[in-house]
Amino acid sequence: MIRTDMHTHTFFSQDGREDLRNMLEKAVSLGLRYYGTSEHFDYDYWKRGLLIGGKQVRQIDADAYFARARRLQREYADKIRYLAGCEFAYENSSAAQELYLKTADKFKPDYIINSVHVCLGNDCYFPEFFAGKSKEYAYNAYLYRVLESLDAPYPYDVVGHIGYCSRNAVYKDAKLRYAEYADVLDKILIKIIEKNKILEVNTSSKTAGSDFLPDTDILERYFSLGGRKVLFGSDAHDAFRIADKREQVSAALSKIGFTRLTVPVRGEFIQEEL
Ligand SMILES: [Zn+2]
Ligand SMILES: [Zn+2]
Repeated sequence: MIRTDMHTHTFFSQDGREDLRNMLEKAVSLGLRYYGTSEHFDYDYWKRGLLIGGKQVRQIDADAYFARARRLQREYADKIRYLAGCEFAYENSSAAQELYLKTADKFKPDYIINSVHVCLGNDCYFPEFFAGKSKEYAYNAYLYRVLESLDAPYPYDVVGHIGYCSRNAVYKDAKLRYAEYADVLDKILIKIIEKNKILEVNTSSKTAGSDFLPDTDILERYFSLGGRKVLFGSDAHDAFRIADKREQVSAALSKIGFTRLTVPVRGEFIQEEL
């Protein structure tokens, strides 16, 4: 049974809704051993002046987040290992990367997920990204961006939600299949292994045509290439979604041959039950 969830968001994130204490209470009630918040740090949006619904995206109050997280960490210490993390949204400008480096240095997050949201100047969650693009073009562009993100200069532990471009894609058949993007996916998976990073299995898949991202075919390939470090993340923005689909992920990973999850804790990798 999976008893960790390391990708969640609270009100500190621009699209978060839930109070951190509510999330923690739920995580405890589910019997989790490790629970992490990976709040959005959207320096990609900030540096590009990108808008959502015509509005500027609220940037995180990092001082307030880490102050509260550290307090609650102490308060809940005998109930759960709560980890205060970040989801850094990869951006290739040196200005954004400098900010990520400074944030990592100043706040010393317990772990960092590196994710690609913005690609070709737009967030590939929103329909504008797909306008005038074939699926093949859009997905390749996203995947090459992921490949580039693996060389980010800031310290990160986890490669977030590979297949994010399919989560809300406009195509009738949105599924991202290993066989159709094998070349670039192999480059990504090999680099994750070489760099000793952890591959996240993210269960917020919406209309991607998969129960989780990346799907089984990509996880199988990762395993066959020698990859063994995987992490569970629900990407919950509400308490009720914490640990969502953990049974499916546990079954799928075990079937492939994985025996453990790898949880990043302040630079150390801890093995946890699957
Ligand atoms: Zn994300
Ligand atoms: Zn997220």
